[in-house]
Amino acid sequence: MKKKKRLCVICNEKPATTDDHIPPKCLFASKDRINLIKLPTCLDCNNHSSKDDEYLRAILISRADVEENQNTDELRNALMRSLSDPKQHGFQKLYSKAIVVKKVFSPAGLYLGDHPVFSVDYGRLEKVLSKVIRGLYYYHSARVLRNDYSIKIIAEDDLNLQPQKLKDFIKSKILFYVDKTVLHKIGENTFHYKYLLTKEDKCAGAWVLRFYEKVHFLALVLKNQDF
Ligand SMILES: [Zn+2]
Repeated sequence: MKKKKRLCVICNEKPATTDDHIPPKCLFASKDRINLIKLPTCLDCNNHSSKDDEYLRAILISRADVEENQNTDELRNALMRSLSDPKQHGFQKLYSKAIVVKKVFSPAGLYLGDHPVFSVDYGRLEKVLSKVIRGLYYYHSARVLRNDYSIKIIAEDDLNLQPQKLKDFIKSKILFYVDKTVLHKIGENTFHYKYLLTKEDKCAGAWVLRFYEKVHFLALVLKNQDF
């Protein structure tokens, strides 16, 4: 009897011919590559995301609030090398597009001059982080997250910009309960997460991802029609 080919645990469509790190290995400094998760994926899901993985890393480690995390020094040096490597022109273009000069005002409305600020491409981040969620879901449940479920990523910084009612709902009805669950760690100080799946529906749920002990994202997994 012919052995059934194993399918990719991310897309569930193509044969799994490679192993891929979830979350991307490039986020981890060499000394913090502890208990990394490797999952069987297809070549497309593995390779096509490498530029997006690097983009996520660049955005995360360029933030001032992660500077004190000891693992980010090595990664920042790697970023500097990529930015001066003529072979990495594509990535440099991507990175420089993320930095835009904006007029900056004080909270009281005083004009403070033109300053470079990050304008993050959330579509790109959403792609990488959705893959992380699909991978972690498989890792914990041994099931592939069905394709009729969508993942909505909300950065913590953006949560504060949401209307008060929505913000209160997310904080009291979602984050409050997710926070009571077990903390999982991949790498000591690199990637932490908690998650809660709804009882009625084994796919839907909420995940809180934390990078370098500072940067939080909330991921909501819902059936397509619920969004
Ligand atoms: Zn795939």
